[in-house]
Amino acid sequence: MIVLKSKNELVTMREAGRIVAETLEALRGATKPGVTTFELDALANAIITKHGAKPTFRGYHGFPANICASINCEVVHGIPSKKRILRDGDIISIDVGATLKGYVGDAAITLPVGTISNAAKRLLQATEAALWEAIKQAYAGKYLEDISGAVQDYAEARGYTVVRQYVGHGVGRQMHEDPQIPNYRQGKRGPQLKPGMTLAIEPMVNEGVAETRTLRDKWTVVTQDGKLSAHFEHTVAITDGEPEILTLL
Ligand code: MG
Repeated sequence: MIVLKSKNELVTMREAGRIVAETLEALRGATKPGVTTFELDALANAIITKHGAKPTFRGYHGFPANICASINCEVVHGIPSKKRILRDGDIISIDVGATLKGYVGDAAITLPVGTISNAAKRLLQATEAALWEAIKQAYAGKYLEDISGAVQDYAEARGYTVVRQYVGHGVGRQMHEDPQIPNYRQGKRGPQLKPGMTLAIEPMVNEGVAETRTLRDKWTVVTQDGKLSAHFEHTVAITDGEPEILTLL
């Protein structure tokens, strides 16, 4: 069941989204060679809690940290660690969730660490652009497949693949609500978009094969071929007019 949010609920979701945006902006500034993902996690926790919010991911199905930090071939759900030191040329996907007054904001970015290869730059640009293409479809009256198809078309036209095992989702009182939002067409148009829907749209785009596997830590998802993966996400509200991105500064 897709839960539509009232104007009042959107006020709170906007606040939660802004905390996520601010956290990601601080993490962008802190991401450089020599920094550990544990330090990024601690910084995120400090900012989220300073605003009276809670890091949504901590304890979610037992997840042991505040953010997900996924380096290079890691797609999503990387666990921050004192042992993971960022090196020049890495890319890091950082996913942040904040819960404020019972409502969740959820967004992700992939950042360069120091100087990255042109191939890595192109992957980051394409994945972020795929997210914007998807947001352009986030209008009342369109269908879920318009969002999914926009990501797939944009990524595949540039020689990339989209991850199929993990998808975007509705978001609100729960981090994961209906509908699931695949980054590829499923051969059905899916639910029609309506004002009050709040959607976490999150392309995960791979340089090589689409297939992934999960490491023995039971969380970290990596590409099967070890090639790079990027991830960008915003929480977006469907309105009577333009889509409203709740996780922008
Ligand atoms: Mg998400």
